[in-house]
Amino acid sequence: MTIEFAQEQDRLDPLSGYKDKFFHSDESLIYLDGNSLGRLPMATLEKSEDLLRQQWGDRLIRHWNEGWFDAPKRIGVKIAQLIGAKPHEVIMADSTTINLFKLVVAALKNKKNRKSIVTDDLNFPSDLYVMQGAIELLEQDHKLQVIPSEDGIYGPTTDLIQALNDDTALLSLTHTVFKSGYTYDMTAMSQAAHDVGALTLWDLSHSVGSVEVKLNEANADMAVGCSYKYLNGGPGAPAFIYIREDLQEELINPITGWMGKKNLFDFALDYEADNSLQKFLTGTPTVTALELMEPGVDLLLEVGMPALRAKSIKQSEYMIALFDEHLAAYDFSLKSPRESQWRGSHISLGHEEGLGIDLAMIKEQNIIPDFRPPDNIRLGIAPLYLSFEDIYESVSRMTTIMDARLYEKYSQTKQFVT
Ligand SMILES: *Cc1c(COP(=O)(O)O)cnc(C)c1O
Repeated sequence: MTIEFAQEQDRLDPLSGYKDKFFHSDESLIYLDGNSLGRLPMATLEKSEDLLRQQWGDRLIRHWNEGWFDAPKRIGVKIAQLIGAKPHEVIMADSTTINLFKLVVAALKNKKNRKSIVTDDLNFPSDLYVMQGAIELLEQDHKLQVIPSEDGIYGPTTDLIQALNDDTALLSLTHTVFKSGYTYDMTAMSQAAHDVGALTLWDLSHSVGSVEVKLNEANADMAVGCSYKYLNGGPGAPAFIYIREDLQEELINPITGWMGKKNLFDFALDYEADNSLQKFLTGTPTVTALELMEPGVDLLLEVGMPALRAKSIKQSEYMIALFDEHLAAYDFSLKSPRESQWRGSHISLGHEEGLGIDLAMIKEQNIIPDFRPPDNIRLGIAPLYLSFEDIYESVSRMTTIMDARLYEKYSQTKQFVT
C-alpha cells in the first residue's frame, strides 16, 4: 500500500476538515494517544478567554446563575445524545473512579441480599480497586468474582454469563477494554444480568466518542465515563454518570453532600436527596473544567457518532492492513480483535521489545503512542484529527525503528507514565 492510497483516502474523507479545528504546534508530530488524552480543540482555546475574562473576571458570582450551576445537567444532556440515553439520565460529576464508587455502593445497597459482583480481568484496575474498597467498607461479606479472559484480548462472555446467578448483585464491566480495545455486546450482557435479577454498571471511558453506545436500547442500568479521552475535554476533565430513569428514585448516592440535596439553598441541617439525578452530585462542580470540556463535546455532536464511527473503522482497518503488510514480519502481534464489530478505536500491538519501541517512537521518530505492560503498544485512532496519511507515516516510521534497531537504546529503561 502506497502513500498515494492514503492521500486519496484523505481527499475522499468528509471529515478531513476537522483536523484544523484542533490545536497543532508541531506539524510533524503524529499523535496516536487520543485514547488517553484527546487534543485541544481550537474552540476550547477561544472559550478559555471568555471563561476567564467574562464569566469569572467580569460576572463573578453572578455567573453561577448564568450558566455555571446548570453546567452538570446542560453538558449531561449533550453527552446523553452521544451514548443513547435520555436527557435527564446523564449528569457530569467528579471523576470516573469516584462515580464508580458511588454506583457500586448504590447497587450493593439496592440488592441487599445478594453477595456477588461479577467482572473480568480486562477491566481497568481502578475499577477493581473501587469494588474491592466498597466491599471492605460495607463489611457485608460481598465477594468479587474476576472472570479471566482466555487470551487477554476478547472478553470472557460465556464464563461471565455462567458466573451470574441469583446471588449476583452487579455485573460491572468496562465496555471497551483499555488494553486490547475489545468491545462487549452490551445488549447481550445486560440481558444475561437481568435474567438473574442483577444490575449492570458499564464503564464507558474508552467507548464514549469512539463507538456508538446505545444505553437505552441495550437496557443498561448504570454507566460512568470520562471526558478527557475521545471527548477531548482536557486533562482531568470531569466524568459523567448515567442512571436509567426508572432506577433513579431507588438508588442512593453514598456520598451525601449539599449539591445533591433537595432545595440545597435552604441550608437545612438534615439531608434529603434531590428527586433528580442531581442527587448524585456531592460538592461544588469543577466549573472551570466543565466549561472547558464542553466545546469538545459540541464538536462530536456536530459530526455525529455514525460518521465518526465509520471513519474510525476505516482507519483502524487501514492500520491493521499496514500491520499485516509491514509490521508482522518484525514479530509484532495483533493484540486487538481483528473484527471491527468487537473493537473500539485503538489497536494494541504486542512485541517483546514493546517498551523500547514505544520510547523510540516518542524520542526518535516523533510519534506518540502509549504503552501498557507487559508488552502492549497502543495506537489510538482519533478520527477527528488523524489523517490516513498520518497512519501511513506512523507505520513507516515504525519500520525505520525496527530496521535500525533504535529500540535497543531504550530496552533497559524503567517504566514511566506514557
Ligand atoms: C481512563 C479510564 C478511567 C479513568 O478514571 P479516572 O477516575 O478519571 O482516573 C477509568 N476507567 C477506564 C476504563 C478508563 O479507561
